[in-house]
Amino acid sequence: MADYDLAIIGGGINGAGIARDAAGRGLSVLLVEQNDLASGTSSKSTKLIHGGLRYLEVYAFRLVREALIEREVLIRMAPHLTQPLRFVLPHHSGLRPAWMLRLGLFLYDHLGGRHILPGTQVLDLTHHVVGEPLKRAFRQGFVYSDAWVDDARLVVLNAVDAAERGAVIRTRTKLTRADREGGDWQLVLNARGKRETVTASALVNAAGAWTPEVTEHLLRLKPRAHVRLVKGSHIVVRRLFEHDHAYIFQNADGRVIFAIPYERDLTLIGTTDEDFIGDLAAPTASAAEITYLCGAASVYFRNPVTPDQVVHAYAGVRQLYDDGARRAKDLTREYVLDLEARAGQAPLLTVYGGKITTYRRLAEVALKRLAPSFKLGAPWTAEAPLPGGDFPHDGVEALTARARGLWPFLTEPNARRLVRAYGTRLDRILGTARRMDELGERFGDELTAAEVRYLMRHEFAETADDVLWRRSKLGLRVGAEAEAALTRFMENGDWCPEPEVRTQRAAGSVANFGFKGAPES
Ligand SMILES: Cc1cc2nc3c(=O)[nH]c(=O)nc-3n(C[C@H](O)[C@H](O)[C@H](O)COP(=O)(O)OP(=O)(O)OC[C@H]3O[C@@H](n4cnc5c(N)ncnc54)[C@H](O)[C@@H]3O)c2cc1C
Repeated sequence: MADYDLAIIGGGINGAGIARDAAGRGLSVLLVEQNDLASGTSSKSTKLIHGGLRYLEVYAFRLVREALIEREVLIRMAPHLTQPLRFVLPHHSGLRPAWMLRLGLFLYDHLGGRHILPGTQVLDLTHHVVGEPLKRAFRQGFVYSDAWVDDARLVVLNAVDAAERGAVIRTRTKLTRADREGGDWQLVLNARGKRETVTASALVNAAGAWTPEVTEHLLRLKPRAHVRLVKGSHIVVRRLFEHDHAYIFQNADGRVIFAIPYERDLTLIGTTDEDFIGDLAAPTASAAEITYLCGAASVYFRNPVTPDQVVHAYAGVRQLYDDGARRAKDLTREYVLDLEARAGQAPLLTVYGGKITTYRRLAEVALKRLAPSFKLGAPWTAEAPLPGGDFPHDGVEALTARARGLWPFLTEPNARRLVRAYGTRLDRILGTARRMDELGERFGDELTAAEVRYLMRHEFAETADDVLWRRSKLGLRVGAEAEAALTRFMENGDWCPEPEVRTQRAAGSVANFGFKGAPES
């Protein structure tokens, strides 16, 4: 008998989503990730849960409908990590006519179920706050709904939940080879420099942009589908507007870009689409892409956006199923799941394409494809909150207020950040602390030793980067000195709980105040 029912290669959103779903249906699951969770494309997205208004133009109705429906499923599953977002689409007299935008938005409003998110409105930009940062030429616009998600934390919390349901999650563990042997898969792993072998009844290749490499070089199989690797870059600048709406701007090249309120006082602008050749480990935003994004935003904003305003930039690589489209922007965003399971052979499921938005559905479909090989429980993820997400979809304000009541030393922005990250599990970090200094050493203004300890013990964090760029986005605020102190703290093993902290936490449950998680013992 194999060590595991299912082995999954890749700790991005698709691998983590499949691991969670499979573990919840009773399979024994191993997930291996060569680096940190979400260290690939799943932390480099635009972070939208969206149907994709633009995909209507290429008649991708199935994909758009599925994604539109998923918006509210994810908002309910993870009310801490997600946020409904209104998008302003200014009408540009030289581009798509207003009737076309109206028709697209009508379909967008009605294709997928919508209970939480409000519908489209027409706006007079000359008399609305969202028109103020724009050039005067933009007089009419539309405002419609989609949602925002912390992409990297979505991956991490899927992995945490999978682990709580019995999955084994191994980060910094790379698959180096896999062969079919005696009806199972035999996997050779490089786990932090040590060679290990394990067996599994079925294998999932969810390696994102690395998928072709895994198929050809590690499984030594002929790829059964073509993929295109397409890079997309983003820039982050100081806040360009005060309100909480995002913008979607049409470009003359037929593409769209977004300008989104980001991390309190910043604006995120993206993205580009260009065929990628290079090192997958470190894709970067090129100077040309940064200039393109600044130029595209400056068509609309009254105050031009220039490359010298960029405080941060990042790039990710999409692995798209190649449907023969000529231009990268026109390739399908549909996912395709290829199952290779001849009689007597251990099955291999390969994931092509996908979006953050549709990862949960992708996992359901993956398990449906694998069902003939296992005795599986019924689909269950649509209504099961992610860790810390067991509160109403519009409950962040109330939870933030409660957190400030319980821990009055938290500033409003700090309390909000913590609630958005940990939801009802926040008490597991703050316990019965009465003062900030009871939470231990501080790294920058907000990050405390207590939070870092929690991330190391419960969320697979091991390095300063894991904490600053994927478990949080505090990398945007923490300086080099604080980062060095954090690295020292994490390397020293200082994160082991002192006995008094342990007792304090065990003694003082704060569950009565609405946080359901039990304090850590
Ligand atoms: C610029 C950009 C913007 C986007 N914006 C959005 C958006 O707003 N909304 C949306 O819904 N989608 C968006 N997407 C799409 C979305 O980000 C991706 O579809 C998704 O993140 C892919 O997840 P994944 O799990 O397939 O791949 P990844 O996240 O890349 O995960 C694959 C993992 O496999 C690991 N791996 C590879 N080889 C091995 C090995 N041999 N052993 C062990 N591990 C291995 C890698 O380290 C990696 O972590 C965007 C994509 C890009 C590029």
